[in-house]
Amino acid sequence: MSYFVESLRQLLGLKPVKPTPEQIPIPVQAIYKEKRKTPLTREALHAVEAGHARSANRHKWRNRRWITLIVVNLLFVLSYVLDVQLVEGALTASRVIGFHLADLNSALQVTLAYKHIVVNLLIGTLTVLVLWILLGGRTFCSWVCPYHLVAEWAESLHLWLAKRGWAIDIQFHRTVRAVFYVIFALLALLTGYTVFETISPTGILSRALIYGPGLALLWILALLAFEVLLSRRAWCRYVCPIGITYGLVGVISPLRVQYNMRSCHHEGDCRKICMVPHVLDVTIRGRAQGLTTDIGADCTRCGLCVDICPTGSLSYTFKGLEKAL
Ligand code: SF4
Ligand code: SF4
Repeated sequence: MSYFVESLRQLLGLKPVKPTPEQIPIPVQAIYKEKRKTPLTREALHAVEAGHARSANRHKWRNRRWITLIVVNLLFVLSYVLDVQLVEGALTASRVIGFHLADLNSALQVTLAYKHIVVNLLIGTLTVLVLWILLGGRTFCSWVCPYHLVAEWAESLHLWLAKRGWAIDIQFHRTVRAVFYVIFALLALLTGYTVFETISPTGILSRALIYGPGLALLWILALLAFEVLLSRRAWCRYVCPIGITYGLVGVISPLRVQYNMRSCHHEGDCRKICMVPHVLDVTIRGRAQGLTTDIGADCTRCGLCVDICPTGSLSYTFKGLEKAL
C-alpha cells in the first residue's frame, strides 16, 4: 500500500495494514529468516540497550526539539513584553517581521465560521502551508505546540505513577479523533463561532504565555490531570484536530522518519516511547514490506524513537536529498 494511502488510513484512526507473506519482497523475507536463525539473547539485547543509554546522543533530538519549542514561544513573549514587533500575535495567528502567518487549523475554523475566505488569512495560511510541508506537517505538534511540551512532561509523571499502579491508561479507539474533527468543523459552520479555539490548549497556553494567565488555565490543568491519572496523552491522541490538519500536510512532506529493517532487533523500545505507536507497527517482526520504510504522516517527527533506537534503525530523511545529507 502506498505511503499516502497508508498515512491517510492511519490519520483516520484505522489500524496499519499487516502484509501477507506474499507481499513481503524476497530480500526482506531472507533477512527475517536470517534473524530467526540467529536470535539475539535477552542478555545481548540488554547490553546493546545499556550501551546506547550511556551514549552522548541518547537525548539529542529531544533536547534540540525542546530548545526549539521554548525559543519559538519565547519569541512571541519577548516581542510582546519588549514591544519590538518582531513577532506579533500568538501561535494561532501572527505577524512575523510584517508577514501574516495563520495556523492552518485556526484558518480552517475561521473560514468555516465566517463562510468566506479572508484574503489576509489566505496569504498567511499559504505561507504556513508551504513552511509545514517543508518541515514535516505534524512537526508543528512536537516542535512548536506549547501544550505538547507540558503534556510530554505530564506523560513522564503518568508513566511513573502507572508503573506503581497509581494511574491507569484508558485507551479509546483512535477514530474518535476524526469524529471530533468533524464535530469541531460542524460547530464552526453552524454556530459561526470558532468553538474549538476557545478550548484549544495550544491557543490557551500560547495566549497565557504572552498576555498573562487567565481562568482558562484551569481547563489545561483538568486536561493534564486526566492525562496523568486516567489516559496517557489523551488530548493529542484522541481529540486534537490540529494533529489531523498537520498530519494531512505531512502526507506530502519530504521530511520523514525512516525505518531500516535490516539492523532492527524488533524489541519495540521505539513503540513504547512513541505518542502515536501505531505508526511504528512496521518495526514488528514480519511487518516491513521493504528494506526501508517511511513512517506514516501521523508521526510528529519528534525524534524520540530516533534517540531511543539502540541500533540506529530509525533516522530522519528528507526525500530527494538523501544523498546530500
Ligand atoms: S527500530 Fe524500534 S524495535 Fe527496531 S531496534 Fe530500533 S527501537 Fe528496537
Ligand atoms: S514515530 Fe518516532 S518521531 Fe514519530 S512520533 Fe513516534 S517517536 Fe516521534
